[in-house]
Amino acid sequence: MIELGKALQIVRKHLLSPGKETVSLAASPGRYLAEDLRADRDIPPFHKASMDGFACRKEDLPGPLEVLELLPAGQVPSERVGAGQCSRIMTGGQVPEGADCVIMQEHVVMESGERIRFSGSYSESHICRKGEDLRKGDLLLEEGTLLEPQHLGMMATVGKNEVLVTRRIHAGILATGSELVDVSEVPLGAQIRNSNSLQLAAQVQRAGHTAELLGIVMDDKDLLTEKISGLMERFDLLLVTGGASVGEFDLVPGVLQDQGFNLEFERVAMQPGKPLTFAQRDGKVCFGLSGNPVSCFVQFEMLVKPFLCWSAGGDLPQGHIRCRMEEGFTRRKSDRLFFLPVVLRPGGGCAPVEYHGSAHLHALDKLAGFAELPAGITTLKRGEEVDVRLI
Ligand code: AMP
Ligand code: MG
Repeated sequence: MIELGKALQIVRKHLLSPGKETVSLAASPGRYLAEDLRADRDIPPFHKASMDGFACRKEDLPGPLEVLELLPAGQVPSERVGAGQCSRIMTGGQVPEGADCVIMQEHVVMESGERIRFSGSYSESHICRKGEDLRKGDLLLEEGTLLEPQHLGMMATVGKNEVLVTRRIHAGILATGSELVDVSEVPLGAQIRNSNSLQLAAQVQRAGHTAELLGIVMDDKDLLTEKISGLMERFDLLLVTGGASVGEFDLVPGVLQDQGFNLEFERVAMQPGKPLTFAQRDGKVCFGLSGNPVSCFVQFEMLVKPFLCWSAGGDLPQGHIRCRMEEGFTRRKSDRLFFLPVVLRPGGGCAPVEYHGSAHLHALDKLAGFAELPAGITTLKRGEEVDVRLI
């Protein structure tokens, strides 16, 4: 059994290299950027009014000021603002030369003719200076960024209509277990529905990649061998769920080994999720995950997701926060790092959910993340601060 940190180090040595492709900006959310992006011009590209009002010289305030012209957004000023002058300007408009501030229209009194007077007290210029956000050539986004809506806005701003991204990894997902039936079927006797495959596929998708469901295979060594050997031809990454432990029908590690895979590890010191096989052969990788649905979920989040993110050039995906426990929690054994499902409370604290163990998937209904109890720690007191891995 190895520590999670060690397991991550090993996984990191066997990353996939999915390559790169160009996609349209519109198709880029959820993809990993495969190039550094730089600003193609200063942002803002000109001194810009951030309020509706009048562009003028601060030293001339409170006026009176003669109004030269109207400057809506999109219009290039035709007049320089001199002493005792101003131009009416709208938010987003280009500030005319000579002006060093924009006074808000709410603070202006109209006088006779085309003249105004400032009636407020001056506090700020209300001008966004040319290049104050980014200079032409400055780094806008780093290679490896997982693209989210705000990044699309940034890329649109610099005219990046086509983006170089990492190709998606296509993972195969295989469920093992003679008790399993497909979601569409009615389970009979001691059968249960296969809930892990679709859950895993959605986790793969959320991590920016794609998955193919490969059905269910019975707990039979020959069937499993045949299935896995065929699949490794088609997939660089295979996620197998079930049969990963040490029971009589836990056949996955043995089959992988017979197929010439190197078993890099078979157990990780975490709870839930201890039985976890990581195997590789000639650049192909297989994770043998638990059958228990919560374990399977946690194993994906803690190990498979980092593997996918790193393979795509991204960073370790989980955010961490420190959070105050609003209720205490005690466990009996403390030999492994424990992931306790928690919800966030309005005041900034967190609380454990009712959790019956690694088969209790419904406990994750309102999941915010997992509070970490390191090995050796049995109790979290009410009011104590704890590390929470956000999911
Ligand atoms: P295993 O890892 O095969 O020993 O399975 C552990 C537990 O998880 C058993 O109760 C299985 O019935 C259950 N299980 C295994 N595979 C799945 C699956 N794909 N969906 C839901 N439960 C499963
Ligand atoms: Mg099983």
